[in-house]
Amino acid sequence: MERMLRGIRRAAALLLLACTTLAGEVRTLTILHLNDLHAHISPENGRGGFAYLATVIKRERANCADCILLNAGDLVQGSPVSTIFHGDPIYQLANLLGFDAACLGNHEFDYGWAQAAQFAKIANYPIVTANVVNAAGELITPKPYVILKVNGLRVAVIGAMTETLNTLSTPKSLGEWHTIPLVETVRKYARELRSQSDLVVLLAHIGGGEESAILNSVAEIPVSVTGHIHSGMTEAMSHDGRVLVRVRSYGEELGRLELKVDTEKKAPVSWTWKRIPVDTANTEPDAAMARQVKLWEDKVTAQVDRPLAIASRTFTKGEVKRLIEQALREETHSDFAWMNSGGVRDPLPQGQLLDRHIWNIMPFDNEVLIGTFKGRDLPKVVIGDKKIDPDRDYTLAVSDYTAANQETGENLRTTGLQFPKYAGLMRDMLLDWFRKKKVIESVE
Ligand SMILES: [Zn+2]
Repeated sequence: MERMLRGIRRAAALLLLACTTLAGEVRTLTILHLNDLHAHISPENGRGGFAYLATVIKRERANCADCILLNAGDLVQGSPVSTIFHGDPIYQLANLLGFDAACLGNHEFDYGWAQAAQFAKIANYPIVTANVVNAAGELITPKPYVILKVNGLRVAVIGAMTETLNTLSTPKSLGEWHTIPLVETVRKYARELRSQSDLVVLLAHIGGGEESAILNSVAEIPVSVTGHIHSGMTEAMSHDGRVLVRVRSYGEELGRLELKVDTEKKAPVSWTWKRIPVDTANTEPDAAMARQVKLWEDKVTAQVDRPLAIASRTFTKGEVKRLIEQALREETHSDFAWMNSGGVRDPLPQGQLLDRHIWNIMPFDNEVLIGTFKGRDLPKVVIGDKKIDPDRDYTLAVSDYTAANQETGENLRTTGLQFPKYAGLMRDMLLDWFRKKKVIESVE
């Protein structure tokens, strides 16, 4: 009996040994993550704001030995402080949030490529992007990846950018900078990093199709943290034991991905994901961050917190697109105007509107351009169900972004239309129109 027991114990010990050797060591890693903060340093509708976000981050990091904090791009562009100071203050404020790494988003290029490169210098944490290069093949950020050491794990974080960068920016702002293929590039780095790390994490500012391509076809990337699509996810995406997460934009929520990582397989054996709302009603703002945010808001408040007009009701982003088109038509006396819905960055609330609301809708310094076209040459998306004479001349007002990217995305779906007449800054035009209207009741 005694011998039998000993035999069983020995077999059990051997089995345990076999298991540990086969499976390697299992260590925990917690990835806190954000994306598309878009310079929303102050809360909107009771959500977000850097001071509240700072508190939530501190709370989640307290007593957390295995936590890292990642940001998946588009930190800037979306509020007056960002537009007026070209994003610099947003990067300075973000230094107080305690990021461990971030990647660039397409909107980091809105103030020109030199400013995008500058952001990587202002940040007190590494900004990594592996697939944005110049003609000489040099990277825009100092490094394509960084290896973070946390809880005995070496976590390799590779940064990446959507291949549609060129269609999301103007040629002037990009200069000679361009993307190289996303999947091939990140796969190459992931393979190189396997021997130097215990887990490879992709931190990427990419579109939905690109997210699926990475998750479904790149076995070398077990974990992805992404940004670019603002709606966030209700459930993490997963495939073959790999996982991909993204949260809502504007700092409305913080993601928390808890992983158990097998250091031999260099992959998670299990994970849980949750989204933590950043709610101003039940969060105490972080005092140090609140002071810094106020310093910056105070610099712009005289310019942007002036009463502008009254909105009789709320207007969705889709309705704001049509309001903008109406404003452009009326302000420029054009027959048609067209606004890309991706360029509308906020809905309008009901009640007293301030100049700030227009800045939030239209943070970009987009210019309005006008072209004259025969009815037959007008793009279908512009005409809609209106009756036109194919031989008559019509004027069409669009943003310089649309004029430069006519064929891409949801834009005009045409090419080669010339918009030679400059009509002014779109935001100024909208401010004038709203101020004259006084009360905004409906969409035409
Ligand atoms: Zn983006």
